[in-house]
Amino acid sequence: MYLSSLPNVARPYTEAALATGQFPYLRNLPDPTANFVVTNIEVLVTNDPSQGNLGVLRDAYVHVCDGRITEVGTMGNMPDELRSATVQLEARQVTGKNRIVTPGLMHGHTHLCQTLWRGQGEGKQLLQWLRDHTWPGEAAMDPVDIAMAAHLGAAEALCHGATTCLDMGTVHHTSAYVKHGILPTGLRVWTGNVVMDHMDPDVPFPKRLHESPEIALRKTLETMQHLAELAKKTNQRVNPAVTMRFLLTSEPRTAQALARMAQDNHWVIQTHASESPGEIAAIQKRFNRANILMLRELGFLGPKTFLHHCVHATPEEIALMAGVGATAVHCPGSNGMLGSGIAPIPDFLRAGVHVAIGADGAPCNDMLDLRAEMWAAKVLAGGRYQNSAALSPLDILTMATTGGMHGLGMEKELGKIAVGQRADLVFWNQLDWSAMIDLESNRDIIGRIVRTRQTATDVYVDGQQVVANGEPLFITSRDLFRRYLNERVSELNRRSKELRVDIPWLET
Ligand SMILES: [Zn+2]
Repeated sequence: MYLSSLPNVARPYTEAALATGQFPYLRNLPDPTANFVVTNIEVLVTNDPSQGNLGVLRDAYVHVCDGRITEVGTMGNMPDELRSATVQLEARQVTGKNRIVTPGLMHGHTHLCQTLWRGQGEGKQLLQWLRDHTWPGEAAMDPVDIAMAAHLGAAEALCHGATTCLDMGTVHHTSAYVKHGILPTGLRVWTGNVVMDHMDPDVPFPKRLHESPEIALRKTLETMQHLAELAKKTNQRVNPAVTMRFLLTSEPRTAQALARMAQDNHWVIQTHASESPGEIAAIQKRFNRANILMLRELGFLGPKTFLHHCVHATPEEIALMAGVGATAVHCPGSNGMLGSGIAPIPDFLRAGVHVAIGADGAPCNDMLDLRAEMWAAKVLAGGRYQNSAALSPLDILTMATTGGMHGLGMEKELGKIAVGQRADLVFWNQLDWSAMIDLESNRDIIGRIVRTRQTATDVYVDGQQVVANGEPLFITSRDLFRRYLNERVSELNRRSKELRVDIPWLET
């Protein structure tokens, strides 16, 4: 049993509660409207093939009751009782003419906790970037930093139409991250504390991120149990995800124990895998195995496993992932920024692997804009395969909506605008130069979503409005938030620079 003979360690939730006064720019989200109908939606992308025509309805309505979708259809077929018995949310009045409504998008991979040191990936390869920026930054964070990073990351993700994130926290402060950072925002998140219990001489990191395998396992179990309880209390607004950074910073027996812990409790489990040439060479040197093959040997692969990046996965590894129902998360922006490569996503899809898409962290991508990732996925696949049809717009939309839902166990709950699904709705305006031609004369709506620039004006999670007129509702004032953020970032940069000297070879 993975917990036998473990020492008692401090509970992870004994951190002093943060005073609410630390975040004067926060406000409570409005209560959800229990029963409403969105009418006169010019174009509704249901993502539900049973609706025909790629699931695109014109002049449509959606009825929402207690956070769930109860009816979807065209205005001509809308029942009379809906016209009078519910709160009317006239799409054209609320959001103006020429709007597309889609399901909420899912970021398959984020590090919301890293958002305060955005823009520090330029010119670095993965391992160098982790060493110079990411790990010192994470080591320097205190509970207030991590909460503010979550506020900023969630605001950006929501305002670009993502309602769900599979996220990685860091080694410490998970309690503050979730309670004070994520929960106030309204974003739906799967997350967990990161395990880093092995210091590879080739890949060293600040000592304060290192934990013994015993402590890392105990802390993970307690954190996951706490998040599982929170999931029940919050209608799954936050959820547990067992999280290992990557094989290079873990002991094999720890990876094995984490996999068993996730399997025994039906929890999601995630790690980075086969991201960069430097990483896979170091794994080959240490284990004499390819990255994903080694994970399979450790029992890490299963239907609730998410492997982030998978840029250098071999055909054998892709087949293994398909066989167990694991999910690959495509991060085209991050993979390009860090010079890692372009993942062979069409090969994954052909093999039957579930594929989601994500932005990764702000420091190695800058933008947590899932639509930018969708555009990048489309054009990079065309370039890599020298085939403009390598990934279709529908492939891309599927990756951004339902691609990760199998792994989360939420296929019947999220990713479509269909009866019984949770009411995650995104209203997109069409004001950009690239979207000036009216929707009524555009027949390739899914291609338009993938290839043109649009802005999310209004976003609902479980029927609760979290973004209105392009502004996140959990923030009182963008200017006030900006002031507090920038004070915090200066201070954090100073502390993280001090930590970088902990690693002697950084000075060479
Ligand atoms: Zn990542």
